[in-house]
Amino acid sequence: MKPLRRAAILAVGSELLTPSKIDTNSLYLTERLNLLGIDLAFKSIIGDDRDELARAVQVALERVDLLVCTGGLGPTDDDVTREVVAGVLARPLREHASIADRIKARFEGRGLQMPEINRRQAMVPEGAQILENTKGTAPGLWIEEGDRVIVLLPGPPRELKPMVSALMDGLLKARASGDALVRRVIKITGRTESHTEEAVRPLYAEWASERVPVSATILASLGQIELHLSARGASIAEATTAVDAAVGEVAARLGLDAYSLDGQPLEQVVGELLRARSYRIALAESCTGGLIASRLTDVAGSSDYVTRGVVAYANDAKTDLLGVPAALIAEHGAVSEAVAVAMAKGIRASAGTEVAVGVTGIAGPGGGTPEKPVGTVAVAAIVGDTLRTRVFRFVGDRELIKFQASQAALDMVRRILQA
Ligand code: ATP
Ligand code: MG
Repeated sequence: MKPLRRAAILAVGSELLTPSKIDTNSLYLTERLNLLGIDLAFKSIIGDDRDELARAVQVALERVDLLVCTGGLGPTDDDVTREVVAGVLARPLREHASIADRIKARFEGRGLQMPEINRRQAMVPEGAQILENTKGTAPGLWIEEGDRVIVLLPGPPRELKPMVSALMDGLLKARASGDALVRRVIKITGRTESHTEEAVRPLYAEWASERVPVSATILASLGQIELHLSARGASIAEATTAVDAAVGEVAARLGLDAYSLDGQPLEQVVGELLRARSYRIALAESCTGGLIASRLTDVAGSSDYVTRGVVAYANDAKTDLLGVPAALIAEHGAVSEAVAVAMAKGIRASAGTEVAVGVTGIAGPGGGTPEKPVGTVAVAAIVGDTLRTRVFRFVGDRELIKFQASQAALDMVRRILQA
């Protein structure tokens, strides 16, 4: 049989067509499929609509070897994936007794009776193989149609992921070409997109002519640049070796500006640096409203180095909680290097940490002045005997200014720690 090389993903669910829910399953699936050398030809998001789904399935089956559908395997009337796919393939659905028994047992294990509608989840198109669901009721399905494969997976990510892992070692691996596509994300601060491109472009031609070629894309967002590298090799090991060599060359060119060579967020990088030195950090935040503390504590194990954070938004809070003299605020203004330094020193004095940060700024949209427009943010970072301060002028809306301020503060700490 021909190996599977080109895939499509259909993410099914009307909620995914609303502004409040995002399809993350396809991102996870893409990463996994790439590891087996399977590229994505396209993906679509379809509501719980029989006609739309049937049309999308038909189109996909004309264009790709592997179609993965996620969602719509539930027991309710709006879960139509199983029936629609069976219909397009013209295969009858039959109740599979062992699935019904397993679903019944799952309910009974929780002291409940299986609702009759859950029987739908035991319906299987003729010739399909069942993919066990260890985290929920709906099993996945693997259907071979000539050389093509159609995989149906449940929508909840916690149910889908273990099923995909099992496929990666089993049915999918057996049908893959043996090639592998491995990606790395390098994250960069302190350079614009074009400066990054200038620095790394000379490498592109070299990479393209290697035996295992590496390709690169640059993505810019506020507060950081990402460089995505990928290599396709005859095995995961071969692709990994090639992409890692390229990552090493980029790292050498970008120096300290490349803060992460394998996609970690800045808060994790800073956390690891703090942990490596057994340093602890304390935060005094005004315009970021606790965002820096929040980001640092998103990292598991951060209690080893995060000690405390104070949100001192009002002037009197800066004085009461951090000991910033009212006269200093009156003299320099609340948004000033002097006040950021006093905030950092204040929190460090009470926390007794090696590292402290003070941030004060104007997130907008109101509150700007000609000398201190919206987006003006003063940051002070103290690490041991080193004190650094900077005043930034960020652009963007309130949320983006807060994010960039948190990013800048974490990055200042990182650069001192790595110097
Ligand atoms: P269930 O048996 O739970 O009904 P299902 O296979 O029918 O499973 P859905 O009803 O489509 O799945 O979705 C269940 C949950 O999974 C919802 O919270 C939904 O938002 C989430 N979900 C579905 N598809 C995706 C997706 N593509 N990305 C992220 N979350 C998803
Ligand atoms: Mg459902």
